[in-house]
Amino acid sequence: MIEPTITPPAGGERIIWKDGKLSVPDRPILPFIEGDGTGRDIWRASVRVFDAAVQKAYGGARKIAWLEVFAGEKAFEQFGTWLPDSTVKGFRDYLVGIKGPLTTPIGGGIRSLNVALRKLLDLYVCLRPVRYFADVPSPVLHPEKVDMVIFRENTEDIYTGIEFEDGTPDARRFLDLLREDFPAEFAKIRFPATAGVGIKPISREGTERLVRAAIRYALDNRRRSVTFMHKGNIMKYTEGAFRNWGYSLAEREFGEQVYTWSQWERTKSAHGESAASAEQQSAEAAGRLLVKDAIADIIFQQTITRADEFDVIACPNLNGDFLSDALAAQVGGIGIAPGGNINYTTGHAVFEATHGTAPKYADLDKVNPGSVILSGEMMLRYMGWNEAADLILRGVEGAIAAKTVTYDFARLMKGAREVKCSAFGDAVIASMDRKPEAAAKKPATPKKPVRKPEAKKKGKKK
Ligand code: NAP
Repeated sequence: MIEPTITPPAGGERIIWKDGKLSVPDRPILPFIEGDGTGRDIWRASVRVFDAAVQKAYGGARKIAWLEVFAGEKAFEQFGTWLPDSTVKGFRDYLVGIKGPLTTPIGGGIRSLNVALRKLLDLYVCLRPVRYFADVPSPVLHPEKVDMVIFRENTEDIYTGIEFEDGTPDARRFLDLLREDFPAEFAKIRFPATAGVGIKPISREGTERLVRAAIRYALDNRRRSVTFMHKGNIMKYTEGAFRNWGYSLAEREFGEQVYTWSQWERTKSAHGESAASAEQQSAEAAGRLLVKDAIADIIFQQTITRADEFDVIACPNLNGDFLSDALAAQVGGIGIAPGGNINYTTGHAVFEATHGTAPKYADLDKVNPGSVILSGEMMLRYMGWNEAADLILRGVEGAIAAKTVTYDFARLMKGAREVKCSAFGDAVIASMDRKPEAAAKKPATPKKPVRKPEAKKKGKKK
């Protein structure tokens, strides 16, 4: 194994974390991993889009100093390791970076490079905005109603990887422990001799930092509501606790800025339902953020049938994994879904494609680079470079509105002109110069009606 030498680009400076905020120099060093498989084509197209947006927005006064770091197949082939220490150090030292998709190593110690990076940097929020770009092919009737931001907890839940395979000595030891110390619980296992077992830790600290980040984001971005997605009716002390800790934190730390369904329940018990509903209505009319919850099963239905009732969604890890991709399907699928992994306490952030390496299309210059391009848009906004981020959005909207799209959209759009991955990047850059008023057929963030208290009752668990 050889450790790659990482030489910082001349003239570049570090982003630093000061007084709870990022301090971004004009020439920030940003580490990147191009990614395996289609990652190579996608990165080439995307980096040109990022540089063009920054150049157009700041006319040379700001420029990104890119620093390549290695992971995945490229790292394994060149250096004999899937995740070199220098890569983790690069993201740790320079705070903010971006990556393409990585092959998951089969066998060996690392379950997933993405999970490893998230754990090593304690990136506790997986941020997945899901919004509609006009003209994107969609399987639903009203994709324009989809404008949600998922805050998925990124470090706990079954992703801790504590699992015992059925029939192994470890599984037997673990089940023996359970039989001896918790016989009543052991008796609940229907087929203990052939059961694999997993553990699902969800903590108060882990929940609170995630919920705090979600509520702050919602307040800063003038969103209407935060919904806790959970399966607390079955998993009371993990997902149910997530919901309860979330409500307590919302009321304790955000007081007058929020109104929670837990307050609604208390007022209902004390003064009846109409008093509770009137209280909620006046809180919402006064601009307070509504903090509510939905059971994990029904939310899949409601986010399709009543998409405009959902805004920011905070959820445990596994729920977020499922929901992010399900929602992305409503607005164009994983080819265009961006993501970011963030620690809002230290400032560390790695933005990334949400799809995999799609190896069958590797080096064909074919796939949609939208997921990495829009992840870069999130990264620039996170850095406070909003003007460059806005140009990227305008560019993507323009390219899609002109029906200049990659194969995945072209096969679903009438009258589309199918272009290669690199040419889609060109079309995005060319569209940055369009007049802003021609950019979108609809506002990026649709106004939502103030939710009536009655809406709450329909979605509530019994
Ligand atoms: P995948 O790479 O996401 O590909 C599945 C399908 O999704 C592709 O065949 C393609 O569909 C579509 N797709 C993916 N990326 C696209 C893009 N940029 N533009 C348009 N369509 C796109 O999933 P996979 O084949 O299951 O996984 C391959 C490898 O990636 C595995 O090693 C897996 O572990 C890894 N992976 C990595 C990440 C990550 O790094 N974040 C995430 C998931 C998977 P069509 O065939 O219909 O065209």
